[in-house]
Amino acid sequence: MAPVVESRKLVCTRSRGPLPPSGVCFLLASSLWLLTSGFWLLTSAFCLRAAGWRYQLMEVKPHVFVWVPEDIHDQQSDPDYDRSGTAGFIITDEGVVVVNTTNNPFHAREILYEIRARTDQSVKFVINTDARPDHFLGNEVFADLGATLVSTAEAQASYLDSAMRAIHPTLPTKTFQGEWTLAVGGREIRLNTVNAAPSPGTAVVYIPDAKVLYLGNLYENGMIPRLDSTAFKAWIEFLRQVEGWDVDVYVPGHGPPADKREFSEFRRFLEFLSSRPDAHPPEPAPHPKARPS
Ligand SMILES: [Zn+2]
Repeated sequence: MAPVVESRKLVCTRSRGPLPPSGVCFLLASSLWLLTSGFWLLTSAFCLRAAGWRYQLMEVKPHVFVWVPEDIHDQQSDPDYDRSGTAGFIITDEGVVVVNTTNNPFHAREILYEIRARTDQSVKFVINTDARPDHFLGNEVFADLGATLVSTAEAQASYLDSAMRAIHPTLPTKTFQGEWTLAVGGREIRLNTVNAAPSPGTAVVYIPDAKVLYLGNLYENGMIPRLDSTAFKAWIEFLRQVEGWDVDVYVPGHGPPADKREFSEFRRFLEFLSSRPDAHPPEPAPHPKARPS
């Protein structure tokens, strides 16, 4: 309010002519106040809108959501993992299940905000599809709420140390191997380990009644996938298999969700890459942050 008081003084005291009638003075002050308020409201609205555009939330099937970030470099995340992965959540009558938690707690809180806007149910489980920090560094937000963090045993053993200010890497506490089915609120959530994947111990998350499949790093929609895998052939074979599953929505590790046609295009793109003479690079050097085994 301080600027408004100043404005009123300016209008009413700097006039060298006869003082305007008090009604005119009040009108001028009110107009200025309205203009000032309008400016701040417009500025605030623009900021809120700009902030909202940093991610999209899509309800791809009833109570099944996908969170898609803008493809930007996050200044507040680890420099090696400053581009967030796609994530999602499933709301049931007995709790919420989150799939991946992005590359930092700030984005994870955005997901939590979207959950809280829709339900008071607690977050029961968080599933990490693999051990890459751009998909799990928001875990701490949900661990603080008492959620059980889940991944394959192989993924848990290969998590990379990755951190920046205000980030506390929080590893899964519940592991599985092969297949595991979660039953939450009458909803079945099937986890399947994929042996041929760009990240060790990758799992896919299948919601059969919704026909939604979260694929993590096995699928990048509209982006170039990591090509340091030597398992192209088996990776492509797995993608070919899931094209035959009863799935309507394929949720990638990066980019927006896709239908079967778009998903098939990605598999064909990998086939094209694998057909090139330089498609099988030597085994990549271990990541500098990898823990000694
Ligand atoms: Zn990723």
